[in-house]
Parts: sequence; structure tokens; C-alpha cells
Amino acid sequence: MQDDSFSTTLPDPRDPAWEPRADHMRAALRQAQRAADQKEVPIGAAIYFGNRLIAQAYNQVETLKDPTAHAEVIAITQAASALGDWRLTGCVLYVTKEPCPMCAGAIILARLPMAVWGVTDPQRGGAVSRFQILQNPAMNHRTEFRAGFMEEECRTILSGFFKELRSS
Ligand SMILES: [Zn+2]
Repeated sequence: MQDDSFSTTLPDPRDPAWEPRADHMRAALRQAQRAADQKEVPIGAAIYFGNRLIAQAYNQVETLKDPTAHAEVIAITQAASALGDWRLTGCVLYVTKEPCPMCAGAIILARLPMAVWGVTDPQRGGAVSRFQILQNPAMNHRTEFRAGFMEEECRTILSGFFKELRSS
């Protein structure tokens, strides 16, 4: 059954319980590195339920030959399976780069209260840049976010990958 109720319980970003954590982003960074090792665009994601890591994934579009195999979507599927619930209320998604429109849509559908990313993508970002899906009044859920968290580390993996691509 579809749940069309509007979710109004956004986390208060000033609440220290929702403060992004470096060790949580590092789980996403490790996944991004795995993607880079496999010549995938190096984007990694991790989902935490409190302090429990319940999902971690990296972009696998080339490996799986699946245009939807983005890190965030794979992680959301894993997290839902781990919790036995498609509603990921109480979870925080960490991703090294701003979600694309598909992933931002999946974040909304999963009712994630909070998304944290490193590198913002002004060209194609679906969360708050090019499209503002995470806080769009037309959606029945809104997701709080923190952009630019550990941006330097997240950008280093991405730019290293594209540099290597250009020189090969
Ligand atoms: Zn995506």
C-alpha cells in the first residue's frame, strides 16, 4: 500500500544528534575508492542508523551494465533490506557527491530525514543544485541536508579519477 502521508518530522540540523560525522563519511569514501579501483566513476555511499552502518555501496554502472546502479540507490536497497522496512526514517545517508535527480528521488521515496555529501554538482546535481528535489514543495517528503562535508577528501578521489582518464 502506498503511503501518501506528508512527513513533517525533519531533523533539526542544530541538534547535535544529526551532526555529520567524519568516520561515517569515511565509510562512503572507502566505497568511492573501491569504485575507482574498478574504473567506475568513484562515488561511494553509506547509510547509518544511529551509529550502526547498515549499508555501503559504490557506483557500479559499468560493472553491472545498469544505468540505475548508482551508489545511493544500491545503498538504499541494502538499508531497506537490513531494516526490513522501506522507510529509512532515522537513517542518515552519506555520499561523496551530490545525488543526481534519480538518487535524490530515491532519497525522498525512502523517507530519509538527512543526506550528507561532499562535492556539490552545479552541473547536474539533483538534490539542491540543478534540481531541488530534496526540498521540493511538490514532493510528499523533504530531506534535510548538509552539503560540502569533507569536500576536500571527496573531491580528491573524483578529480584523481578524471585526471587519470584524460591521460590514458
Ligand atoms: Zn545518482
